[in-house]
Amino acid sequence: MMIVMKEGASPAEIDAVVRRVQAVGASAHVSQGELVTVIGAIGDREHVANLGLDGAPGVDHLVPILKPYKLSSLEYKRGERTVVEIDGRKIGGDHFATIAGPCTVESREVLLSAAHTVKEAGAQMLRGGAYKPRTSPYSFQGLGEAGLRLLAEAKAETGLPIVTELMDVRDLEAVLEVADVIQLGARNMQNYTLLTEVGRSGRPVLLKRGLSATLEELLMAAEYVLKEGNENVLLCERGIRTFEPGYRFTLDLMAVPVLRELTHLPIVIDPSHAAGKRSLVEPLSLAAAAAGADGVIVEVHPCPEEAVCDGPQALVAEEFEAYLRKLEAAAELAGKTLERV
Ligand code: PEP
Ligand code: MN
Repeated sequence: MMIVMKEGASPAEIDAVVRRVQAVGASAHVSQGELVTVIGAIGDREHVANLGLDGAPGVDHLVPILKPYKLSSLEYKRGERTVVEIDGRKIGGDHFATIAGPCTVESREVLLSAAHTVKEAGAQMLRGGAYKPRTSPYSFQGLGEAGLRLLAEAKAETGLPIVTELMDVRDLEAVLEVADVIQLGARNMQNYTLLTEVGRSGRPVLLKRGLSATLEELLMAAEYVLKEGNENVLLCERGIRTFEPGYRFTLDLMAVPVLRELTHLPIVIDPSHAAGKRSLVEPLSLAAAAAGADGVIVEVHPCPEEAVCDGPQALVAEEFEAYLRKLEAAAELAGKTLERV
């Protein structure tokens, strides 16, 4: 249930509503809009309805949220889009951002070289996994804490915020030392204990859609993070599994306009993991930006043929600047603004 307060409702009136909601075992999420405050009461629908908040001091009206996801719904924010700000870089609403870097942190040399390339070209954030979810247990699993230290070095050198994956809650503290955005991978989209802990950490989250997850399941996963009071969730479509064997995954670009109708959260597209092939990355990126995505996360490597993982889909560092100019033009076409850092 959404409790819409009157314009000018006092803090004491807001507080009284919050306490009444909590008294029936529901949680109250206060969202301060430009003019009015909205309180999301999440819990047993009947208990909340029986509170008789209609007509309570400061309350304007009540709106039931019919969707199973509440805090992530567009209704909850009354159509206002969330802008996530990461160390001065904005993503969401009118703001487009590019996250770029190698698939994994493989060496100081490669990471720093990629970091400088993407920074100089004008990308907003640096990606790179220290913990890698690999299909085979015999493949490179990431440098772990040594990789995190290299990411910290790259951040110190370039000033770029870091997006890196957390796979196991036991590594949360170490990842929090360096990650400006915690990536939750496709294979962990429904790891609910991980979602909850990351929600509690308060750190912005890039939540990747599971390989076979519906958009509703993605939004329900986001709800686990939001429910803990962490509002900074970026949703990421990275390709889903279909019957088409011609490419690694099928990039579900329709998710962009559809999610925009369902949620206020920023939408990021990962063309690299969907494509699995370099030549497809640019057209998919341009289509994503033109469709209204709020950002792109893309793999870039100084020497892809020597990359430890995902080389075939990595953009060549030398070509990244030209790629980014085209991507920015497509984002501008969709009405986004871009801030160079
Ligand atoms: C990644 O971005 O490094 C990654 C492993 O992606 P996904 O979880 O989407 O497969
Ligand atoms: Mn990869």
